[in-house]
Amino acid sequence: MTREQLSFGLARLAALARQDDWRAGEVEGLTPTQGDILRVLLQRPEGLRLNAVAAHLHISQPTASDAVTALERKGLLQKRADPDDGRALLLRVTRSGRALAGRWPLSFGAVADALSPADQAALLGIVTRAIHALQLEGAIPPQRMCLSCRYFAANVHRDKSKPHHCRFIDAPIGDGDLRVDCPEHEAADAA
Ligand code: SF4
Repeated sequence: MTREQLSFGLARLAALARQDDWRAGEVEGLTPTQGDILRVLLQRPEGLRLNAVAAHLHISQPTASDAVTALERKGLLQKRADPDDGRALLLRVTRSGRALAGRWPLSFGAVADALSPADQAALLGIVTRAIHALQLEGAIPPQRMCLSCRYFAANVHRDKSKPHHCRFIDAPIGDGDLRVDCPEHEAADAA
């Protein structure tokens, strides 16, 4: 019962988020997939290969390739040779791509705005645990998140509002501070 109703509820929220993405896309002339790619690349100034973008977004390589071609044609991203492998190409946002990605609304922004800060923090904790569990099952590709980071120590402080510790910044953090995509992430050794 709970599982079923939770699934219905999440589907409603996902539908709203996608609808908001389409609406933003109409304004900017992009599809939601193109917007997703820009968002991912915005977090990776060093660039990403096409197959990594496709894996990150859970889309096929042909779908990612079509979206990348359209973004390149619009001058929003560019391809550069990968310094680690001259035969491979890295995708990077251009200055206009960065500007557009910066004003592209968050997919679940309306959902987050409907919650109190305390509920946002609690939900972030639940979502990161779900992503981590699915990542361990191989259903989601590796993410640069706290729960898989070598700098993360869970539940080591008495303060219930900040029970975890990030050894990179050497400070206590709470569920509301957890990162799903952190540039300082370094993968923890597999247990
Ligand atoms: S470095 Fe980033 S991913 Fe790692 S624990 Fe700190 S905040 Fe989390």
